[in-house]
Amino acid sequence: MSIHTYFSEHGFPLVAVLDVAALPANIQVLMQKVPLANYQRLVLTANVGQSLWPHLEANWPQSAHPVDDYSRKVTQTYIAQHLQDDTALLLYPTAEYLIPLQQLGTFAGWHHPSPMGVAIHPEFGLWVAYRTAFLTSVALPVTPRDARPSPCESCVEKPCLAACPPQAITADAPIQLTACLDHRIAPGATCADRCLARMACPVGEQYTLPQIQYHYTQGFDRLKQWHLSQRS
Ligand code: SF4
Ligand code: SF4
Repeated sequence: MSIHTYFSEHGFPLVAVLDVAALPANIQVLMQKVPLANYQRLVLTANVGQSLWPHLEANWPQSAHPVDDYSRKVTQTYIAQHLQDDTALLLYPTAEYLIPLQQLGTFAGWHHPSPMGVAIHPEFGLWVAYRTAFLTSVALPVTPRDARPSPCESCVEKPCLAACPPQAITADAPIQLTACLDHRIAPGATCADRCLARMACPVGEQYTLPQIQYHYTQGFDRLKQWHLSQRS
């Protein structure tokens, strides 16, 4: 079974096999505590659109970090049963390494800037999340870089901007986090458990609403407390 088929069947249709020897210098510097020289390939996996949630709901780990735990288990099973590489090293999610996922995603062609302040993928839009990264000694076929441009370049109307109630998003400046959080914590806020601007983007298939609500409410109480403490 190919690596793409395996991960796709478990909710991660986006897989990039990167040649460790070809990683750009800026990434190698950021990963200097990782034993890159011992490995041939760095593999990145991601969920897109509604690919993950049905798998996760059917195999929900009873733990504090179900998404990470499910992702780790899927990846470790692939390494043990299909790759059969005893030397493989899981890089993400782990507490051991800090991995430059954005830079790796940019190298793979998955990651372009967007007005939302989060990455946008050429095909799957804002509905992509890195799930695992690992190193292997097996010389898997390298994935060609996705050379498609950012969808924001050809998005004339930019509906994400108008959909944000407090207009915290503009085309040419970073997202105004204070305005966003002020709105989200206000009584009756329309985006306490979702981002209306993100949902207005026409590119790619959105997550299911339960997945959107899960991600937007995880840790929201702590974020709210932090934001209120900054205001006082
Ligand atoms: S609505 Fe247009 S400008 Fe906004 S994130 Fe989506 S593609 Fe980019
Ligand atoms: S969560 Fe709401 S306020 Fe924040 S950027 Fe999204 S739409 Fe705007």
